[in-house]
Amino acid sequence: MPRMTMLSLVLLLVFHVSASWAASASVYDNFLQCLNTNTNPSSTQLSNIIYAENNPSYSSVLRAYIRNSRFNTTSTPKPVLIVTPSASSHVQASVVCAKQLGIQLRIRSGGHDYEGLSYWSDQTFIVLDMFNLRTVTVDIEDSSVWVQAGATLGELYYRISEKSKVHGFPAGVCPTVGIGGHISGGGYGNMLRKFGLAVDNVLDAQIVDAKGRLLDRKAMGEDLFWAIKGGGGGSFGVIVAYKLKLVSVPETVTVFQAARHWKRTHRCCFEVARGGANHR
Ligand SMILES: Cc1cc2nc3c(=O)[nH]c(=O)nc-3n(C[C@H](O)[C@H](O)[C@H](O)COP(=O)(O)OP(=O)(O)OC[C@H]3O[C@@H](n4cnc5c(N)ncnc54)[C@H](O)[C@@H]3O)c2cc1C
Repeated sequence: MPRMTMLSLVLLLVFHVSASWAASASVYDNFLQCLNTNTNPSSTQLSNIIYAENNPSYSSVLRAYIRNSRFNTTSTPKPVLIVTPSASSHVQASVVCAKQLGIQLRIRSGGHDYEGLSYWSDQTFIVLDMFNLRTVTVDIEDSSVWVQAGATLGELYYRISEKSKVHGFPAGVCPTVGIGGHISGGGYGNMLRKFGLAVDNVLDAQIVDAKGRLLDRKAMGEDLFWAIKGGGGGSFGVIVAYKLKLVSVPETVTVFQAARHWKRTHRCCFEVARGGANHR
């Protein structure tokens, strides 16, 4: 009897795995066909930018940008497909095709979402992973930079510093945070007091809207342009790139940390709050 039970369990597991692979294979075929229909013939082999669960690279691609290990478990729901666009036309077609197939799209840039919203969902979903779109084009004469959503903050800072030691951009401190999610949500960092948030220094953007249209600032209008600068990632479309205004920074910067003892800080601030004297 226990042997029978064990056998049934194994069969059930095999059946479950093959059923889910079959379902994912049919989503794969339909999605690929739709992408082919909705993109101009190009040099990119579209099958190379889509990963189904039976693809040997699926797990490593999925895990590469999972930055919160709470959502990197076997029980975390997994996408039926991971799509890794290498051109904005792929992003446009992905939006159209996900809608056509009725499957939720989760957009991922740096994967630093605190709730893992860019790579898991409780509904059937596809991850649109922007890591191939990470070009940073710095224009020192214009004091600006176009940066694609899949680049990280570290890449942005590095590319600026390659071109100039007296230009910078005021955004977050963690170098692996992604441009797509960070700037969509505001973006604060060490230069906040002098230059404001990252979104205070956005000049233009490219977004793919829910209809699959690629829009720049002029085409999207000022309302949507305002919304994508702090309204939160994944809310208004897929950000393909932002144009940012560079700020002037000194060539040499001194960084230091000042440690504070909690009890002392607490007493000091309490006394200041009461308007009392003798705070140290
Ligand atoms: C270790 C760590 C350090 C941090 N440091 C700072 C800091 O110094 N300053 C600060 O302001 N914040 C900081 N944050 C917060 C961080 O800016 C946000 O979590 C941000 O949303 C992460 O962006 P991402 O692209 O890396 O994440 P993702 O997980 O890829 O995306 C975050 C959200 O944006 C959406 N999204 C991603 N890409 C796009 C896109 N191209 N178009 C539309 N929507 C998109 C996702 O669907 C998701 O909802 C930090 C977070 C972590 C985990």
